[in-house]
Amino acid sequence: MEKLYFIPGSQDLYGAECLAQVAADCAEMTAFLNEKLEGTIRIELLPTVETSEICVEDMKKVMCDDDCVGVITWMHTFSPAKMWIKGLQMLNKPLLHLHTQANEKLPYDTIDMDFMNLNQAAHGDREYSFILARLGIAHEVVAGYYKHDDFIAGVKRFAQVAKAIGLSKRTRVATFGNNMRDVAVTDGNRLECEIRYGWEIKYWGIGEIAKLADEATEAEVDAKMAEYTEKYTMATDNIEAVREQARYEIALEKFIAKNKVTAFTDNFQDLFGMKQLPGIAAQNLMAKGVGFGPEGDYKISAFSSVLMKMAEGREGATGFIEDYTYDLTPGAELELASHMLEVPASFAATKPEIQVHHLGIGGKADPARLVFDGVTGDGIQVTLVDMGDHFRIICADIELVKQPLPMPNLPVARIMYRHKPNFKIGTAAWCYAGGAHHSVVSTALTRDDIAMFARLTGTELITIGDDTTEADLQKFFMR
Ligand code: MN
Repeated sequence: MEKLYFIPGSQDLYGAECLAQVAADCAEMTAFLNEKLEGTIRIELLPTVETSEICVEDMKKVMCDDDCVGVITWMHTFSPAKMWIKGLQMLNKPLLHLHTQANEKLPYDTIDMDFMNLNQAAHGDREYSFILARLGIAHEVVAGYYKHDDFIAGVKRFAQVAKAIGLSKRTRVATFGNNMRDVAVTDGNRLECEIRYGWEIKYWGIGEIAKLADEATEAEVDAKMAEYTEKYTMATDNIEAVREQARYEIALEKFIAKNKVTAFTDNFQDLFGMKQLPGIAAQNLMAKGVGFGPEGDYKISAFSSVLMKMAEGREGATGFIEDYTYDLTPGAELELASHMLEVPASFAATKPEIQVHHLGIGGKADPARLVFDGVTGDGIQVTLVDMGDHFRIICADIELVKQPLPMPNLPVARIMYRHKPNFKIGTAAWCYAGGAHHSVVSTALTRDDIAMFARLTGTELITIGDDTTEADLQKFFMR
């Protein structure tokens, strides 16, 4: 499991007794937080920073440990911040600064100068915060008493975002084929993606998958079919079309393992050697946390895998989706979001059916796909676009709803949602912000998670929700 290192701060002027108390209090805090965050992250305490040399040694440990996704700091006492400069300059993992105390209440009857010197985070954390600001280091602050629920929730959110950033740095997108011809928003600066987020965008031909699919044995296909029929309802007589998809998933799984890939893209315009466009193969892989972007959309492929990681361990569904069509009934406007095939199985509210239907584009055989109605509940829709000189994340609050009526002739899975604060402002804001038609929808994540990711990665963020007004639209327009 991933871990965070906890580096407390003090100085060597206070004497051994004080430093021993600092270490003991920090050990108690570490044990408490480990109990509360069990299953999410593990926290390990490092030696208290009393000198610049100790800080450097601690940060070396942070930087050299592949399991470590971030660092927590807290100034139990005053800790002159010049001691932190060289250590902090080495750090390139997410940083959480705790602004807390070992004690909840002031001991009014007994407080003396010794107590004040030992418990002066109000003083020491400000000295430390200045150097973080002065060095321009992106970080989060969680303030309050460390045993309070809202404080623990803040640390947990940081842990989940730090784990997602950890995955981001290990993200490798296999692009099978290039971006769909002439499409703008799915393209952008791949080099900048790698520099800012760590995403390696690597090209391979789809023939690699076609070849591996041809090589899949009957036994492997039987095993994959057993997985499908256990999870899904077979609603087609065209079993061979489903077995073909099983071969694609087997091929993709082998390719992913061999090349240490975490996400992939394909493109219906480049299916050389393939009989079908991957449908159920992509849908089933997405439900296992593999990032996917259709039409060569490497950004949404990588971003979806990062956000699925962020949502790990939470209730709700997270995955790729595409904006498709609207119900514009006044006051009851709804969006129907879907894709030509590849809606992640994690969005299913009903047991998915395996169906085979004609696909009008691509010129290939009828592909097998999962068809289902979507999950409901409060959620977010979030995308990432390349503005030329920077990346922009757009995050809209939405409410996923049950589809009002059956759609018996729609051969694809779908979700439906209501925009906030209403259709007119919510969708116009998305348009003004340059939001893509590919996005990630999540009922597990919130705007606060995305905002933390944006801050820690230095990405512009535009949010849309109940606090968005007509006046805000003018701001977008004036950009
Ligand atoms: Mn698309």
